[in-house]
Amino acid sequence: MRLLAVFSHPDDELGCLGTLAKHAKRGDEVMLVWTTHGELASQFDNHSDSEVRRIRQEHGAWVADTVGAQHHFFDMGDSRMTGERSESLQLAKLYAHFQPDVVLTWSDDSPHPDHRMTAKITFDAITLARIPKILNEGQGGHSEDIEEMITAHRQPVRLFQYVSSASARPVVHIDIGEEIELVKEVFTFYQEFYGWSFTPEDFLATRGAHGRESGVKYAEKLQRRQAFAPALEFLI
Ligand SMILES: [Zn+2]
Repeated sequence: MRLLAVFSHPDDELGCLGTLAKHAKRGDEVMLVWTTHGELASQFDNHSDSEVRRIRQEHGAWVADTVGAQHHFFDMGDSRMTGERSESLQLAKLYAHFQPDVVLTWSDDSPHPDHRMTAKITFDAITLARIPKILNEGQGGHSEDIEEMITAHRQPVRLFQYVSSASARPVVHIDIGEEIELVKEVFTFYQEFYGWSFTPEDFLATRGAHGRESGVKYAEKLQRRQAFAPALEFLI
């Protein structure tokens, strides 16, 4: 199984890191993708743009390595995302290359526009990745180009999003009891670096609350969105 997590800025991934680590440990292929470098973070006022990119790329690489994932940065521009077709197409080409079975992303109504646009292009790219003529626009389609042609991704994709109180989509909880120390380590790294007032204990308490809702000690909570889902044999 292949899982692709698509977020806007390094640290957005904290809501599903335990789930990603758990899948990686099971032997699934996991990739973490950021659509921007988060280059506008106000903690970096004294750094050049290229320096901020380098630091945030290092953070992303470290997080991916810690959970056992590959990673990739796009450069769609912090707080400049528009959700337009060219952004979805960049992501669709990555889907075609990686062929994910599961995609995870932001909710549809986070206050940050990049988060909303990331959720939008993550959903839109599922459809664009199914269409060979879109993936290969400008390739010419001559026989000598066949080797270069991008293969469409037409397998069903399970899409999971961060929870939105405004959404009625079904909620799932993932038991992260064995991954909680790893998730806490990554949270603590970001918290110390950025000086967040939200403490590791506060963070653990949220995972504990999700766990109490679902009968385990610690859980992550996501919402399921259907896209080209195959028929089930039975309900359970
Ligand atoms: Zn963000």
